[in-house]
Amino acid sequence: MRSVCIMGGGLSGLMTGAILSKEGFRVIVLEKNAIIGGGLQSFRRGDYLFDTGMHCFGGMGENGQIRLICRYLGIEDKVEVVPRCDTLMDVGSGLRLTLPFGPRAWVERWSRAMGALLGREQVPLVRQQLERYLKTMYDLTCQEPLYHLRPIDNDYQIPDLSVSAKELIDSSIDLPMLRSIMPYLSLFYAGRENSPAMLHSLISCSHINGTYTFKHGSLSFANILADLIKQAGGEVHTCEEVASVEVDNRQVTCVKTVKDTYLADVFVSALPITRLLDLASQTAFSPAFRRRITTAPLTYSALTVFVGLHPRTLCFNREAYYCTHLSSDPWNAAAVSEDRWPSLAFVLPDEDPCNPGYAKTLTLVCPMDYSAVERWAGSRTGHRPEDYYRWKEKMIGQALKMIEPVGFEVPLQQAVAYVEAGSPLTIRDYYGNSKGAIYGLHPSCLNPLQTHLSPNTRISNLYITGQDVNFHGMVGTTLTSVLTAEALVGQNVIVNKINARK
Ligand SMILES: Cc1cc2nc3c(=O)[nH]c(=O)nc-3n(C[C@H](O)[C@H](O)[C@H](O)COP(=O)(O)OP(=O)(O)OC[C@H]3O[C@@H](n4cnc5c(N)ncnc54)[C@H](O)[C@@H]3O)c2cc1C
Repeated sequence: MRSVCIMGGGLSGLMTGAILSKEGFRVIVLEKNAIIGGGLQSFRRGDYLFDTGMHCFGGMGENGQIRLICRYLGIEDKVEVVPRCDTLMDVGSGLRLTLPFGPRAWVERWSRAMGALLGREQVPLVRQQLERYLKTMYDLTCQEPLYHLRPIDNDYQIPDLSVSAKELIDSSIDLPMLRSIMPYLSLFYAGRENSPAMLHSLISCSHINGTYTFKHGSLSFANILADLIKQAGGEVHTCEEVASVEVDNRQVTCVKTVKDTYLADVFVSALPITRLLDLASQTAFSPAFRRRITTAPLTYSALTVFVGLHPRTLCFNREAYYCTHLSSDPWNAAAVSEDRWPSLAFVLPDEDPCNPGYAKTLTLVCPMDYSAVERWAGSRTGHRPEDYYRWKEKMIGQALKMIEPVGFEVPLQQAVAYVEAGSPLTIRDYYGNSKGAIYGLHPSCLNPLQTHLSPNTRISNLYITGQDVNFHGMVGTTLTSVLTAEALVGQNVIVNKINARK
């Protein structure tokens, strides 16, 4: 039995571990935190349960990628999700638009809403532009076989990443209002003007097909994956921070934590790629590769606000809200001055089991640049200076103000029973992401190959996985885990097995 040591117990580490366990490897996962999961971590405060880094995701529809991969792993029945409807809200004009699942219904809903705003005669034009926009996006995703869980054939070519998301939208849509609102999903890839149209399409199509949240918190999914690894004879260690990756003659000889030394046939880094470079011997990677990664742009960070609500203060309709100012620049969501922050708040309520039809908690994710917290960069969780906490209070207040139009039964202040927030520093310290970048490296259509990584490295027994490889989020990171596992077991081996169970 071949052994594999996986560094990092987030989604990618656990998913790669679960797949490799199924494929007959003996897996050991090393996670630095006391709780597994990385972005899948949930935490409890009294009666409230919050997810930290996995709120809404696609891929759970009938033939969705995550559903099919769960079926292959034999856990489809255990993974319980709740469907969500995206609701857009313009704080300025009061526009409120709830979008249904599926491309057809999505176009119809938009067309009717724009007709109501701009005049009924505009409906055919809006419909035509949105159909063109959707077709371009769906066609683009076809260049990415893994996204459709199609085997990769010998003619495979790297997809065209040189067109930007903004160019894609502008070339399909003429109406200024639609143009400015269409990047509403850019929060799910930390979109900027130069983000590739391909990335925009992969994320947007996933969400338009249908978005979901975990019914019992995202940590439940991490636990299901960890159980698979353990049932196959593997181990998942927490509080095991990798301190060094020893490389000799293009071979990893061992991985050291503060407590132990781990040997294995194969090693997989499921860490942020910048973290792996810090931990590996200086000569393990070429200076050119180091430079390429350390100079790559990063995605923006966020302030996450966790709110516990008093009973029956907000109706629960399975909605996920995007509160925005249509007048703000959607491609610079994080780069706003402190007094105008936030320009966008994604709000996810969770239902109160004791009061069905009402929400118990809210989680807000608001894009924020790391520069907002850089003055406290030297501090650590639980030991930050007083002025940091004062600043955080102020930001929480501003974020809550932004979501007032969601429609509470009482004034918002009276609805809030508990509030806490995680800043870009929290994200940096919990996941080990440089500058709290929510999705790691930022792919840019100006230099797409800079962040286009392969699961193989020049070190023969070291592979990489995680959100920095291929693409991020629930769907991207899970697909990347398939890609990395196939680097060990053979191209298309797992994709073919997944398809065999369709
Ligand atoms: C605030 C926020 C909200 C998000 N919301 C969504 C969402 O709604 N939908 C969505 O699809 N995606 C979302 N994401 C993105 C999603 O969380 C990530 O894309 C995904 O979790 C990445 O998985 P990963 O395994 O690559 O990285 P991670 O989950 O970050 O895992 C890396 C793991 O490595 C561990 N680690 C780091 N250093 C060491 C070390 N030296 N030794 C051992 N272990 C180490 C970390 O503790 C962590 O557990 C969000 C992210 C954030 C930050």
